[in-house]
Amino acid sequence: MALVNEHYLQLSANYLFADIAKKVNAYKVSHPQKHVISLGIGDVTQPLCPAVINAMHKAVDEMAVKATFRGYGPERGYDFLREAIIKNDFTPRGIHIDPNEVFVNDGAKSDTGNFQEVVRWDNSVAVTDPVYPVYIDSNAMIGRCGTFEKGKWSSLTYLPCTDDNKFIPQIPDHRVDMIYLCYPNNPTGTVLTKDELKKWINYAIKNDSLILYDAAYEAYIRDEKIPHSIYEIRGAKKVAIEFHSYSKTAGFTGVRCGYTIVPKDVTATTLDGKQRISLNQLWDRRQSTKFNGTSYISQRAAEAIYTPEGKEQTKATINYYMTNAKIMRESLTKLGFKVYGGENAPYLWVKTPDGTDSWKFFEQLLFGASVVCTPGVGFGPSGEGFIRLTSFGDREDCYEAMQRIANWIGSK
Ligand SMILES: *Cc1c(COP(=O)(O)O)cnc(C)c1O
Repeated sequence: MALVNEHYLQLSANYLFADIAKKVNAYKVSHPQKHVISLGIGDVTQPLCPAVINAMHKAVDEMAVKATFRGYGPERGYDFLREAIIKNDFTPRGIHIDPNEVFVNDGAKSDTGNFQEVVRWDNSVAVTDPVYPVYIDSNAMIGRCGTFEKGKWSSLTYLPCTDDNKFIPQIPDHRVDMIYLCYPNNPTGTVLTKDELKKWINYAIKNDSLILYDAAYEAYIRDEKIPHSIYEIRGAKKVAIEFHSYSKTAGFTGVRCGYTIVPKDVTATTLDGKQRISLNQLWDRRQSTKFNGTSYISQRAAEAIYTPEGKEQTKATINYYMTNAKIMRESLTKLGFKVYGGENAPYLWVKTPDGTDSWKFFEQLLFGASVVCTPGVGFGPSGEGFIRLTSFGDREDCYEAMQRIANWIGSK
C-alpha cells in the first residue's frame, strides 16, 4: 500500500484564485449586462517584443536544420545566456558572479519552490506576511511548516508587513534557518532600501541563516537608490540565493525562462556540525538529476532581451504597466484611499476604508463597480484589511475602472 504524503493534505485551505473566480462567475451570471474589469490578474497582458520574437523565429529555424539542431542543452543553461546575464545584470552593478554560479531556470516559481529540497526538512523558516504563497506551500509539502490552524502555520515565523511598520519586516527576536524575502514585493508593491537589506545580511551572517531572495520584479525599480540585487550588499554572497525571472521583465510567463544565482560561498552544515557543504554543488546535483534544462528557443529569446533593441522594447512595456500603476495610484489617492506600492512595482496595495475586511471589500468593489481585486488576506494574515490591484491590464480598462470606482464612491 502506498502511503500519501500527508503534508499535502494540510494545503487544501489555499484556494485563493479559485475562490475569486467562483465569486466573479456568480456575479457575471446574475449581472450578464455588466462588463467586469479585472485588476486582480497576476499575469502580464502585452505581447513579446519584436527583438524576442525575431530571436525565437531564428532559433526555431536552427532546430529545422541538422547542422544547427539542438537536443539536450547544458543543465545550467547555455553559455551565451549565462554570459549575457553576468555582463548585463551584475557586472555594471559592481557584482562579480562566476558563470558556474548562474543556473538558467524555466521560471522562478520552479526554483523558489524547489530550492528548499537541498536543506534538511526540519530547518526553521521565516516569511514576510503577506507573502507569495509558493514559499510557504513548497516548505509545507515536506512538513517544514507544521499544521495549518486559524489561517496560520504552526511552525512558521511570520514577519508582519503592515502600514504600522511601513511594510518593513522586522528582524525576528529568535534565530531562523531560512528567510524568504521578495523585493520589489508581491503582493504589497513595496521595496527595501540597502540599509534595510543590510540588516538581514548581518542577521544571516550572525545566525548562520540562509536568505532566499526573489528578485522577480527587479526591472520595475525606478528609484535609483533601491538595490536591484541582494549582492549589492556586502557579505550577501556568503548567505543569499537569488531568483530572477523574465516573466514580468519581458512577458515570459508563457515562454518560461529565468535564472537562479547560487554563489559558491553559500554553505549549510551537516547535522554533526563538522562539515560545511556548498549549496552550489548540491543544487547542481539536484538539477542534473531532476531538470533537463530550459528550451533552447526560450534561452535564445531571453538572450535577445539583453540586445540594445531588446532592452529598449522591454523597457517600453514596463513603462506602459508603470503608467497604469501611476494612473491608479493617483486616482485612488484622490478618492481618499491609502495606497502603497505602485512606484517601483506593478502592484498597488490598498487599505480598505473604515477597517472593512478584505473579502467584504472585494464584494463591495465587485458589486459597486464591477471591478475585480485580490483580497489581501489571501496572501496571509497581515494582508487583512487590504486589497491588491495589478497594473498588468490595458490602459483603457485602467481608466474605465478608475472612473467606475469614482462613480461608486461618489454615489455612496
Ligand atoms: C510572477 C512571480 C514569479 C515568477 O514566476 P515564473 O515562474 O518565473 O513565471 C516569481 N516570484 C514572484 C513573487 C512572482 O510574483
